[in-house]
Amino acid sequence: MHIIQHNKPFIGEEEQAAVKKVLTSGWLDQGPEVEGLERDFTFYLGGGNAVALSSGTASLFLGLKLLEVNKGDEVILPTYVCSAVLNAIYMSGAKPVLVDIRESDFNIDHDSVEEVITEKTKAIIVPHIYGFPADLRRLLKSGITIIEDTAQALGAISGKSKVGTIGHLSIFSFYATKIITGGQGGLLFSMNKRLSEKARDYREFDCRGDYYPRFNFKMTDMQAALVRSQLIRLQYFIERRKKISDSYKEVLPPHLRFQKARQDSEPIFYRFVVRFNCEEDRDRLKKYLSENGIQTIIPIERYELLHRYLGLDPAAFPVSEKIVDETLSLPIYPALKDEEISRICELLEKAPV
Ligand SMILES: *Cc1c(COP(=O)(O)O)cnc(C)c1O
Repeated sequence: MHIIQHNKPFIGEEEQAAVKKVLTSGWLDQGPEVEGLERDFTFYLGGGNAVALSSGTASLFLGLKLLEVNKGDEVILPTYVCSAVLNAIYMSGAKPVLVDIRESDFNIDHDSVEEVITEKTKAIIVPHIYGFPADLRRLLKSGITIIEDTAQALGAISGKSKVGTIGHLSIFSFYATKIITGGQGGLLFSMNKRLSEKARDYREFDCRGDYYPRFNFKMTDMQAALVRSQLIRLQYFIERRKKISDSYKEVLPPHLRFQKARQDSEPIFYRFVVRFNCEEDRDRLKKYLSENGIQTIIPIERYELLHRYLGLDPAAFPVSEKIVDETLSLPIYPALKDEEISRICELLEKAPV
């Protein structure tokens, strides 16, 4: 049986040629390709300052550090997100303050945020979960620094702006399963030139005239060349994801629910997450698809909820606790072939849901 993976990168001849060019150039470390990627990103986002780094997590950490988030400060984040965000906050020395998410789009819940803001709150990290833009306008009114976690949402639009350009600072990830990839890699984006220059200074320790502790957060030119060749395909990637999402929605029964995009926003379908009425229904579809060679995942499991990791009372996070039981993520990626999409649709049409 032909197995359809849950995720797979799209690597074409252009990507291979771009990496090969770096390999034969004699310069593998951060160099002209990294510089080029930063230029491409600034152009794509319509201005601002892009600093390529080794990962999304490193970008979050460095962002917090340069904002002078330290021990004694508090940083608000949703419980429904990968632990990378929590790790970056602990690395900064600050205290993470978790809040629940909204039923409609699985993004950070504004009311809960307003309840936990104190005089120690230094920043709010706002992921656009599964490529669905969170509502930043209300959060910006709080006057607190907003870090957009755009790791899953490159190309999504909120109002008239691309996500990543709305908050005070934003991070991107080029991990293997993200919208565009370099295998690994990240990027810190900001309108604040001084802050970006500090990031550029901090990412590299060697041969410096003065001393203070810096680190190695560099991206290689091989990664940057790969990411650049993928950025050229971004619009196609986004359209392809939308098409797959539309195909699935057409055949799935109407009682199933999906993330709902905010009125003035355009998501990019990083994941296709189906929401069931109960865990049994979810598990039945998962088993059925698996028996037919289709890999699916539970996008965030209960044990991964950040409040569970921290041993906090689950009753304080009711939406997240419910959503982990009721959601399943189906394959959605540009490398998925037309016949594979048709095969999944045929199965979904006959699915026991
Ligand atoms: C992937 C991801 C990160 C971390 O990025 P890495 O490049 O893997 O370190 C952070 N936040 C979110 C929402 C992510 O999806």
